[in-house]
Amino acid sequence: MIINNMIGRKTTQKKILEELINNSSEFFTADEIYEKVKNKGIGIATVYRFLKELKYHTYICNKKIVYSKENNNHCHFICKICGKKNHFNLKNLDTISKVINGKICHLQLDITGICNDCLLKKLI
Ligand SMILES: [Zn+2]
Ligand SMILES: [Zn+2]
Ligand SMILES: [Zn+2]
Repeated sequence: MIINNMIGRKTTQKKILEELINNSSEFFTADEIYEKVKNKGIGIATVYRFLKELKYHTYICNKKIVYSKENNNHCHFICKICGKKNHFNLKNLDTISKVINGKICHLQLDITGICNDCLLKKLI
């Protein structure tokens, strides 16, 4: 009886997490998910276990692991002067596909440069 209850609880937790992730934005962190489920009695360890189990695609953003349920690409353009980080989407991976010996799942890219704001300031 006790065992049945435990399994039941686990399934419910899984359902709650699954539904939440399906309705969340493209990219999310474990903390964001935890914030939304902690009042439902789900711990951070459960959230991490769940995210690992489902083998979501992972990226590093602001020193944090970011998850995505789709194999989205996650690209940063970081300004070396003001430090601002912009996200952009790279849809066409043809050039990269050609130099890779296999099939691409997802891609993370960090490009450093000088943003337009800083370029303008330099011109003045
Ligand atoms: Zn992937
Ligand atoms: Zn990012
Ligand atoms: Zn800048």
